[in-house]
Amino acid sequence: MYKSILDYLCRAEKSDPNKIALVDPNEQCTYCQLNTMAKRIASAVLEKIQEINVPVIVLMNKSVKTIAAFMGVAYTRNFYVPLDINMPAKRLNTVMKSLGSKVIITDNKNYDYVVSVAEKETEIIRVEELEETPINKEVDKRYEQAVDTDPLYVIYTSGSTGVPKGVIINHRAVINFVEEARNTLSFDSDDRFLNQAPFHFDASLPDIYCCIGAGATLHMLSKNTFYNPLKVVKYMEQNEISIVFWVPSVLVLIANAKVLQYVNLNSLKKVAFCGEVLPVKQYNIWKEKLPNAIFVNYYGPTETTYACSHYLINREFQNTDNLPIGFANQNAEIILLNSKNELAKDGEVGELCVKGNCLSAGYYNNQEATEKAFVQNPLIDTYRDIIYRTGDLARYNEYGELEYVGRWDSQIKFNGYRIELGEVECALMSIEEIDCACCLFDENKQMLYAFYVADNISDLDTRLSEYLPEYMMPSRYIKLEHMIYNSNGKIDRKGLKEKYIEND
Ligand code: AMP
Repeated sequence: MYKSILDYLCRAEKSDPNKIALVDPNEQCTYCQLNTMAKRIASAVLEKIQEINVPVIVLMNKSVKTIAAFMGVAYTRNFYVPLDINMPAKRLNTVMKSLGSKVIITDNKNYDYVVSVAEKETEIIRVEELEETPINKEVDKRYEQAVDTDPLYVIYTSGSTGVPKGVIINHRAVINFVEEARNTLSFDSDDRFLNQAPFHFDASLPDIYCCIGAGATLHMLSKNTFYNPLKVVKYMEQNEISIVFWVPSVLVLIANAKVLQYVNLNSLKKVAFCGEVLPVKQYNIWKEKLPNAIFVNYYGPTETTYACSHYLINREFQNTDNLPIGFANQNAEIILLNSKNELAKDGEVGELCVKGNCLSAGYYNNQEATEKAFVQNPLIDTYRDIIYRTGDLARYNEYGELEYVGRWDSQIKFNGYRIELGEVECALMSIEEIDCACCLFDENKQMLYAFYVADNISDLDTRLSEYLPEYMMPSRYIKLEHMIYNSNGKIDRKGLKEKYIEND
């Protein structure tokens, strides 16, 4: 019985202390070194805060030490909040204010920047300075007292009102996912994972926790390498990578670059993906390259701890088919609700709603957003039964498998990143000269269009980048004389699309 993700770390250390746990472009560490590093970081955090269940920000580049920082925070029974070091300062300030964290963990490289953005009273810990730090006895005591409902992390996702939402995830939900994935993919200590996702996205969750849960080895590549498909596959070949959990965009990029023919990827036995639709065309390219590998399509929002359903691909698909999202994960229940809030009938499209141990405890310091998304199950009126409304539309296909149909709101996936178009619109509207703005996404072209009305404006792209991270930046700006509206008085998104995007 596990009560903390630290159980995984301690078990891995006990069974093989000298096994390489993590490898980044600059260093590597064994399970014994990782655990010691984590306990040193925990000791440093305990010097600054005595409370439990409070946030500790981790603001640094991806490295072996970042994961040690996550584990260190967990040892103190607090939760870590991994933030993007490249996030524009204004967005970072909004998030840091909503967190009210007293401690930030960073590295030497980012220390000066972190000092410049942090509130005055915030304590800043530099991981490199802890090499000789003695381990406080309280660290083991805290770990003994840990319970599986303690929050483990808060990850921020795009919010439609312009304010990012912090999704709270507890240890139990992560353990639940690791055990689910272990059953499906049968990973073990011989596996070599290759991390792609940044640590401030929950797409990185299996890399960290399935790897440590298996006592295996996790390789981390720099962000830039991932944009060079040939370098990625060469790295995989040289390091005998055996399992990946990636966003489909990366699989698509590699398939389209036609680099698979140059390498022998016989070691790669398990390919899992999640976060958006993987087109069958690119899936088939991978399948042809790896006929004996297992392919798993995971589905789920950050609020359901990486995934709440999965499909272990077990038949052939034509390029025009959709890959199903399969069946509910263990300890998760999925219900499809139609527009009348009733159970969707066979084949009918409904909103995908989730309940079970995979669910987040809500949004940090945001009661309003929590109450909107985590609601009473409308099918039950006799006791409290909370479901999460994903906003995704799905139906059951002829095989009884769930099939993802799309979304009913304005949340999109762009290069694998979840973006609320409303947040991009709010950022545009924060620019003084802009009177009106609207964003649209073209699925086929994979382009994010920003329409705006403004008198005179220069350097729009640069100014917008003060508010938005790089992945949220529009691909194209279209200046309008006047915004166009439909008969309801709403921005005529359909009209904009027909007039400007379809002929672009
Ligand atoms: P995120 O919280 O960033 O993981 O984004 C969650 C959203 O990504 C979901 O609500 C879906 O709209 C989409 N998504 C996740 N997994 C899949 C999948 N396997 N197929 C299609 N869309 C997906």
